[in-house]
Amino acid sequence: MENGHLDRGRRVKPLNEPPAILCRGLSRTYDLGGQKVEALRNVTFEVRQGEFVAIMGASGSGKSTLVNLIGALDKPTSGELFIDGLAIAGLGDEALARLRNHHIGIVFQQFNLLPRMTTLENVMLPLNYAHVKVPDKAALAGALLADVGLGTRLHHKPAQLSGGQQQRVAIARALVNRPNILLADEPTGALDTKTSHEIMALFAALHANGLTVMVITHEADIAAYAERMLRFRDGELISDTNQDPLEAMARIP
Ligand code: ADP
Ligand code: MG
Repeated sequence: MENGHLDRGRRVKPLNEPPAILCRGLSRTYDLGGQKVEALRNVTFEVRQGEFVAIMGASGSGKSTLVNLIGALDKPTSGELFIDGLAIAGLGDEALARLRNHHIGIVFQQFNLLPRMTTLENVMLPLNYAHVKVPDKAALAGALLADVGLGTRLHHKPAQLSGGQQQRVAIARALVNRPNILLADEPTGALDTKTSHEIMALFAALHANGLTVMVITHEADIAAYAERMLRFRDGELISDTNQDPLEAMARIP
């Protein structure tokens, strides 16, 4: 990562800096016509600013439910959730929108790009919702795209790009409002192995530049990039372990 746009700087973190994510007794129950599904049960953990965390768990274990809560797209049934020290429950619509725009960037398995828009337009999109003055939106989006290796694809449509390139566009879009936290829900689920590792190397570089990164996956070789692993089963957090990414990778058969 040669150039400065993604570089948040390894700044010294003040001791009183709030955690990037704090969940306390978090639960989410879906009610499907009287039938209750406990997607998350009494989940408590904290992610410090600048950590690189992997969330692992089988399909149906509650990972996407957690992403929706942390991304402020959904509200918990009970428990508390703080993002950058802000209590989600206490925020009105406008403050929630600001939180979504400026604190959290989300990347999905299926990239979720708008098919009629160019690469550049897709990345500029969140700037239009954010109500901040950016002197030259196209220049900022173009610089971010260059940082993720797509400087020569600014005017392509998503269908003209490979899966890995589309995911890079989605990552640039997630970062355009300079969030503290990058959340990725199975970001390599639709990619081949080589491309998956290229995308994970990009997340590792973003983490090295100071971003808080949380990657949801059910693949051990993807989780190995992180420095900490949270495992979920049936909506419950069953383990929370620190790991050395190199050692974790060496253990993969
Ligand atoms: P994961 O991402 O780990 O595969 P999810 O968070 O998507 O798991 O789902 C957890 C559980 O909650 C599953 O049993 C799923 O069927 C259920 N669930 C998820 N979303 C909804 C919803 N909108 N309505 C009802 N049940 C849901
Ligand atoms: Mg999921």
